[in-house]
Amino acid sequence: MICCVNDGFFKLDGGAMFGIVPKPVWEKNNPADEKNRIPLSLNCLLIQNRKTTATILVDTGIGVKNNETREKFRKFYDFKRSCLVENIYNIMGLLPQDISFVVNTHLHLDHAGGNTYFCEKEGKEKITFYNARYIVQKGELEAALADNERTNGSYLKESIKILCDNKDNLVLVDRDNKEIIKGVSIIKTGGHTGHHQCVKIVSGGRTAFYLGDLIPTVSHLNPVWIMGYDLYPLDTLYMKEKLLNQACEENWLLVFEHDPEAATGYLRKDNDGWKIERVEKVQ
Ligand SMILES: [Zn+2]
Repeated sequence: MICCVNDGFFKLDGGAMFGIVPKPVWEKNNPADEKNRIPLSLNCLLIQNRKTTATILVDTGIGVKNNETREKFRKFYDFKRSCLVENIYNIMGLLPQDISFVVNTHLHLDHAGGNTYFCEKEGKEKITFYNARYIVQKGELEAALADNERTNGSYLKESIKILCDNKDNLVLVDRDNKEIIKGVSIIKTGGHTGHHQCVKIVSGGRTAFYLGDLIPTVSHLNPVWIMGYDLYPLDTLYMKEKLLNQACEENWLLVFEHDPEAATGYLRKDNDGWKIERVEKVQ
């Protein structure tokens, strides 16, 4: 069974979200606020194997941070409150200790921020899903911790170091197509970051695919609508076309991490290009 769980909503600059696409084109379907920001969601995914009850959480949103960071994120991203842990409980009845695996598509702050949380009582940051094994691409971790002027602002390095300190929780992988539990595999795509990975779920003859930042919203189905944040946009273009053709042929259920309206849907093609047939509830 799979289920979308949300860590809340935030906003990013519309120009940065759509790269080379001019504003008069993108703003029709993505109206911007007075600071030119567009609303985005933090859609994470829970996957549960009914037989073994192994539970995988894919990405962890922005998470609960200390006052200073919270204030900064409120100002820059209009991020009000992290609600992932309470949504996991309200929707699935699960507590943080019940999560067996966390998969991070990559380690940007809006995908791995909730890996850890700020504990008010102890005044320090701690690992959130403390029984889980966190599956991270080795190259992504190296890129996250490297000092790079272009990418420093995208990572919460102190939070990432806390995960590194919890050696029993961290599993570094450096290959594509690794199966985590039966039917659930990571697919390395690159593009957004050099080691970005997606998650493919196959069960009972059906396939679901979590796109991460390869195709963050339905608007990004258009091949050339690629985020300005992407470090390797031509790799994004190549992987998008490859995966979308396969997704259409095999009728995959797609999960969009940042779309505030359509978290999930099936791909259709008409004369204007790719379309999404929305699905509200996923089982
Ligand atoms: Zn993102």
